Amino acid sequence: MTIKNYINGEFIDPVDGNYIDNFNPSIGEVYGQIPNSSIEDVELAYKAAKEAFPIWSKTTLEERSRILLKVADLITDKLDFLAEAETKDNGKPLSLAKTIDIPRASSNFRFFANAITQFPSEAHESVGLNAMNFTLRHPIGVVGCISPWNLPLYLFTWKIAPAIAAGNCVVAKPSEVTPMTAYLLGEICNEAGLPKGVLNIVHGLGQTTGQAIVEHQSIKAISFTGGTATGAHIARTAAPMFKKLSLELGGKNPNIIFSDADYDEMLATTVKSSFANQGQICLCGSRIFVEETIYEKFKKDFVNKVSKLKVGNPFDADTNLGALVSKPHLEKVKSYIDIAEKEGGKILFGGKKVTVLGSENGYYLQPTVIEIQDNSCKLNQEEIFGPVVTIMPFKTEEEVLEYANDVSYGLSATLWTNNLNRTMRMTQELQAGIVWVNTWLLRDLRTPFGGVKASGVGREGGFEALRFFTEPKNICIKY
Ligand code: NAD
Repeated sequence: MTIKNYINGEFIDPVDGNYIDNFNPSIGEVYGQIPNSSIEDVELAYKAAKEAFPIWSKTTLEERSRILLKVADLITDKLDFLAEAETKDNGKPLSLAKTIDIPRASSNFRFFANAITQFPSEAHESVGLNAMNFTLRHPIGVVGCISPWNLPLYLFTWKIAPAIAAGNCVVAKPSEVTPMTAYLLGEICNEAGLPKGVLNIVHGLGQTTGQAIVEHQSIKAISFTGGTATGAHIARTAAPMFKKLSLELGGKNPNIIFSDADYDEMLATTVKSSFANQGQICLCGSRIFVEETIYEKFKKDFVNKVSKLKVGNPFDADTNLGALVSKPHLEKVKSYIDIAEKEGGKILFGGKKVTVLGSENGYYLQPTVIEIQDNSCKLNQEEIFGPVVTIMPFKTEEEVLEYANDVSYGLSATLWTNNLNRTMRMTQELQAGIVWVNTWLLRDLRTPFGGVKASGVGREGGFEALRFFTEPKNICIKY
């Protein structure tokens, strides 16, 4: 199957006819081609967006909202079809694509369709100076949205929906590793009646297509989700051009478990926060710290539960872990497991590639649990982004806070305790953009989403996203 670019409401070939392979990770085979778009393709997308902007930016909020709600409904109508496409492209269990990825893509459109109708601007009365200020929030113009492969349609739409709800026109690029559902979104947007040029989707490699979006003089803002090194490169390129930047980057999140937590719930959720989506979620709690008094019990129970997870064909209903997204990524994850023992780690479970009957060339890996002695090891400092977690005991609150914060990343943290005072103390001190207490991945789309330190700059979600995709202008009137 050959994917095309979606520009000005039409599906077109890349100008220079360059294509790259698209893999199905569950069988390790090429199943299609995608454009490797050049500067010329990005320019075509930009021109279409620029032309659509004057009308779209003046379209009433009610009308924008109506179209976005229609997109949301169509995603829901096509849930099975989109989930199957996502699973084939990404390797994730179909059950996950059906319950998390695709429903959330629909929710993203529904949420911002509603949020834009409630988005306020500010007024400030300058008391005693006979002046009144009010702030306009206008759309920026043409904006760029670049997303990763781990939650393909989910994260792609998390950017696009607020961008177009706020009245911008978009040049978007999904990951070249998982382009399929973004391609299908173009058809849905046409069906929903989104005017031509409001959303343009160019496919291709980061260094070529992505770079062309970031370097484009007239694309005024970049919303990027992906790796920290890529984010730093994008910042270096875009900052001298004074572009607005939102960078959602990597994570190395602590999962802190105290003995007073609700044990069974903690255990079941910790299995999920370790291995959901093969551990390829930026919010996974890959560094597990357990209070010494329950450490041995936790170790036994956790390994026991993990050993029962089924690694298999992602289309099988009983599969818990599907394939990793690509061969290079599988090799990268495996390379961390290979250094574990050199670093003094002990593999308690997993660590090996899995051969799935009938899908022998797929990229499968066992869920892996490694006991470590020292938080400063590479396994605990670098983002592995696969089905690999470490476990380590701690004695005191102060000690575990130090471990949790002693890392370059700061995306999320999970805390398991029923002690209210401890919860208040620790949530103040944890260096993270999101802290979950006695839960994980519970998302309310109104809340600010993003990280600190090497996990990024800026926040998505709710009005934060609408603020990012609008330019405030203060008007001061003296009377
Ligand atoms: P990546 O940085 O390799 O790629 C992300 C996107 O950027 C892709 O579309 C890619 O083509 C593009 N890109 C690459 N080089 C570029 C360049 N020079 N200019 C413009 N675009 C470029 O990341 P990935 O491997 O696709 O995704 C995994 C990473 O994403 C992990 O680090 C993970 O933690 C992170 N992530 C973060 C969040 C978050 O919300 N913070 C969410 C999901 C994933």
